Amino acid sequence: MATVKLKIKKDDIVKVIAGREKGKKGKVLRVFPPDNRLMVEKINMIKRHMRPSSQTRQGGIVEREAPFNISNVMIICSKCDEAVRVSHRRLDDGKKVRVCKKCGEVLDRT
Ligand SMILES: [Zn+2]
Repeated sequence: MATVKLKIKKDDIVKVIAGREKGKKGKVLRVFPPDNRLMVEKINMIKRHMRPSSQTRQGGIVEREAPFNISNVMIICSKCDEAVRVSHRRLDDGKKVRVCKKCGEVLDRT
């Protein structure tokens, strides 16, 4: 199986394009490269029963993000203001960055 280059990174703003959260936008909290999954702020929330601990104090039911497949999201270009495809470009200083396929805007924060 070919290695999939992950086009989504932590702190990217992405749009969900498939699944029950389709259409929602959020910030990427974590990516899990080995299984091509990611966690996005306020997306794919699940209820968890927590035991009282020093962190939660009371315990009970809390909602938290659950990982889902990275292919269900697309990165949002700040210039286009919509979900776009990503291509790669090498800058003059040799640094490789992700750019919007549509407008060429650099999507990586440098
Ligand atoms: Zn763009």
